[in-house]
Amino acid sequence: MYKNIPTQHLRNPLHKRKGISVDVLRLDLMHPFISGNKWFKLKYHITAALREGKTGLLSFGGAFSNHLVAMAQACSDQGLRSAAFVRGEDDPKNHSLSLMREAGMQVMFVSRNDYKNKNLLASRFLDDHPDIYLVPEGGQSAEGIKGAAEILSYAKHDYTHVICAVGTGTTLAGIINASSNDSLVIGICVLKTKDESMNEWLEYLSTNTNKKNYCLSFKYHFGGYAKKDAELVTFMNRFFESENIPSDFVYTGKVFFAVEDMIKNGDFQEGAKILVIHTGGLQGNRSLPAGTLVF
Ligand SMILES: *Cc1c(COP(=O)(O)O)cnc(C)c1O
Repeated sequence: MYKNIPTQHLRNPLHKRKGISVDVLRLDLMHPFISGNKWFKLKYHITAALREGKTGLLSFGGAFSNHLVAMAQACSDQGLRSAAFVRGEDDPKNHSLSLMREAGMQVMFVSRNDYKNKNLLASRFLDDHPDIYLVPEGGQSAEGIKGAAEILSYAKHDYTHVICAVGTGTTLAGIINASSNDSLVIGICVLKTKDESMNEWLEYLSTNTNKKNYCLSFKYHFGGYAKKDAELVTFMNRFFESENIPSDFVYTGKVFFAVEDMIKNGDFQEGAKILVIHTGGLQGNRSLPAGTLVF
């Protein structure tokens, strides 16, 4: 399933002048709605659900959740039902919700307050529907990490640096576990943190990975989760025009911006061979006003 994952070399002349090379692993090309990394995080949940004889999956998320859009589509492809508790209210203009419903997902809206008790909501739902399998929010689980660890098997293994967006950190944990010991894995955090030296991500990574060859960058959140500014949008358009790679404003736009900025700042030594993971997420751009992006 979804095996079209090419590696694309970036042409930016600055890279050659600095003696480094950058490749992008294009998980965004796997499927238009099954946002690259989300499939890997879902894969072993789906396997477990089928093994246990379940007929569908239940999960949670926000109204623009790439995770829920991917889950709805993946379930539909596998002949499974899907259901989700969605934080907030229905909005007919929200394309992510439309994609979930078009794929047959049962979408159940809950207030922000009730969403805090989502585990209670889920256990009540599962009492009534014992044939449904529960996937944690964002696919954050041991199964999610195991699936994400397979991402690197689609790339060569001689990179000095591997760079990826960090939301929950599940994808990065899998990548760290699968990385070679002499490479450095860099996570670009797309949410703001109060404490850069100790936070939930660092705790999560230290308990869920078996290596120390990673670091996190907290400089490129652009104000916080799903926040953006004109500089980011301009960069995303310019990046598309020069490299022909579309990015999303929540995750991958910030990652490609970070990579270019770190290169300009001289953060990589000469000879560095960098792999950037394009984790997909392009469906999220549909929430932007028409004409914002050139792609
Ligand atoms: C969800 C998502 C991420 C973050 O993945 P985590 O495993 O939660 O850290 C990165 N990129 C895209 C496009 C995503 O949709």
